[in-house]
Amino acid sequence: MSGASEREQAVRRVVRHHVQALSAYAVAPVPAGAIKLDAMENPYALPPELQQGLGQALAQVAINRYPADPAALRAALRPVAGIPQDAGLLFGNGSDELIHLLVQATCEPGDVVLSPVPSFVYYEITAGLDHARFVGVDLTEQLELDLPAMLAAIKKEQPKLIFLAIPNNPTGGLWPDEAVDAILRAAPGLVVIDEAYEPFTDHSWMARVLDYPNLMVMRTMSKLGLAGLRLGYLAGHPDWTAQVDKVRPPYNLNVLTEAAARYLLQHWSVLRDQAASLVRDRAALRAGLEALPGVRCFDSEANFLLTQVPDAPGLNARLRERGVLVRYLGKAHPLLASCLRISVGTPAENDRLLKTLHELLQTP
Ligand SMILES: *Cc1c(COP(=O)(O)O)cnc(C)c1O
Repeated sequence: MSGASEREQAVRRVVRHHVQALSAYAVAPVPAGAIKLDAMENPYALPPELQQGLGQALAQVAINRYPADPAALRAALRPVAGIPQDAGLLFGNGSDELIHLLVQATCEPGDVVLSPVPSFVYYEITAGLDHARFVGVDLTEQLELDLPAMLAAIKKEQPKLIFLAIPNNPTGGLWPDEAVDAILRAAPGLVVIDEAYEPFTDHSWMARVLDYPNLMVMRTMSKLGLAGLRLGYLAGHPDWTAQVDKVRPPYNLNVLTEAAARYLLQHWSVLRDQAASLVRDRAALRAGLEALPGVRCFDSEANFLLTQVPDAPGLNARLRERGVLVRYLGKAHPLLASCLRISVGTPAENDRLLKTLHELLQTP
């Protein structure tokens, strides 16, 4: 078996140390019959008429051709998303890809990418992969933005790029406008506001994206019900989008995603209505959770509730055994040690979660 050990040595010699030390982003298998409240997905499928219409729209796509410039999609999205007429607009294979493009476009090796933590973990992963240095600034104990700490870190680290997820994942809350304004004014580099959860809040920076010299706003269609489609978008002054566009792989937006998005934008109210019912059910779920002994939720403007529970890792495992998948993030950050992140599901799924939790919390 010298072949195997030679190969292992070659892998160790050749693959970047940084990559060897990573663990692959684990997408856990879903046990049969389980309910999935762990990934902020919209639990509702498309209505049958839309499934039919989508199938017909996709059947007409020329998959033998490379994608053309998605001008029609840009034009259709602009009014729906409230993107200012004079802003540039780029698409990504999910906003995950846009995060890479932003780091690649801005950071020389060793330059700093900064964000509050805990926040979306892919900022840090991307910074590492793209040879930048990630600096996380802890939230307060109450999981609010620590503005003095942010401003001090900005001054010290001079970040090329700052990511602010608003609402924040995994905490669910908004950052105050005055604090974001102060960060925008203090930042020597680009500030990207990540509005992945915009469908579930009335708050947005999109209309103000051209009011600052260093602001871009990023969104995704994933949380609105199209996680499988992989479509994110990034808006900002054309001076910014033109530069980020240069690092984009030429055909990153595939023709089926483009056509599906254009078709679904004609039926956007269906997805918006689903989001509105998730917002209503979020309040009911929160009330149900907080009626349980020792359980407390943080304020959320997203489609999930960060929930403090007794023995979070143990409860997470026992929920999984009962076919209820939620997310324990204590390993991601000490501030989350006693928390589960629970996506809002259908009313039936939320009921099953609450019943299961009720049983588990009575029989420790
Ligand atoms: C889910 C999420 C994303 C990733 O979105 P995709 O478009 O699915 O890649 C980006 N930012 C935040 C804050 C998220 O929670």
